[in-house]
Amino acid sequence: MNELSILQKWVDESRKIVFFGGAGVSTESGIPDFRSTDGLYRQQYAYPPETVISRPFFDRHPEIFFDFYRSRMICLEAEPNAAHLKLAELERAGRLQAVVTQNIDGLHQLAGSRRVYELHGSIHRNICQRCGKTYTARQVKDWPDPVPRCPCGGIIKPDVVLYGEPLDEATLQGAAEAVAGAEILIVGGTSLAVYPAAGLVDLYRGNRLVLINRDPTPQDRRADLLIRGSIGEILGGISVSL
Ligand code: NAD
Repeated sequence: MNELSILQKWVDESRKIVFFGGAGVSTESGIPDFRSTDGLYRQQYAYPPETVISRPFFDRHPEIFFDFYRSRMICLEAEPNAAHLKLAELERAGRLQAVVTQNIDGLHQLAGSRRVYELHGSIHRNICQRCGKTYTARQVKDWPDPVPRCPCGGIIKPDVVLYGEPLDEATLQGAAEAVAGAEILIVGGTSLAVYPAAGLVDLYRGNRLVLINRDPTPQDRRADLLIRGSIGEILGGISVSL
């Protein structure tokens, strides 16, 4: 049996699938990831991206942070791709329990997924640091000044987890419980290099760990089924039975 047939068979046999993904899930929607050859880390900026999107940098140089963040990380034209759509379909069919994502783009929800643990927050929530008023991603993207400021004077901070900030405890807990309770854990489109998110894989106790990625990851040897390739093509090729 080839890898895709095994994946199909396992999916057909389970109603407790959990998906854990990262930036690679959205590259086929036109959003660059960080670590691929054409990812943001390989492009030339005055400061490395991991420096710019850190909390100390946000506090010290908000104008540079927002220039990078608004131009590179808020991609409002992006549409869900075959991977997002299939995961939503699997959830509707009662096969998938949850999506755990490191992405901040909101594409899983746009595709119709309902139980989504956004480990690193979302571009779609933006909160004034002083009065708590909320703003949309569109407002932040189109803000006329270099730094979006609420009428009250506070800076409007995206509700995304910057390097140096802790993850939301309740989100991490929910994701951990979902992974620990999964029969099949499908991990895809992630370099598994960002912690604590990548550590969630260690909580999986089953024997059907599927890893789908274009490049090798540090967890490849742990996978019960390793598929190298496009996540959109591979997940998109699954047929869903009720
Ligand atoms: P990463 O950039 O470190 O790794 C992406 C991985 O996905 C790579 O190993 C690459 O080989 C693989 N990949 C890329 N396109 C693929 C495809 N079409 N099919 C299969 N595999 C593919 O991403 P990460 O592990 O998620 O960690 C980076 C951090 O960056 C995350 O914390 C995330 O918050 C953030 N980020 C998010 C977005 C987004 O929301 N779309 C975009 C960029 C970065």
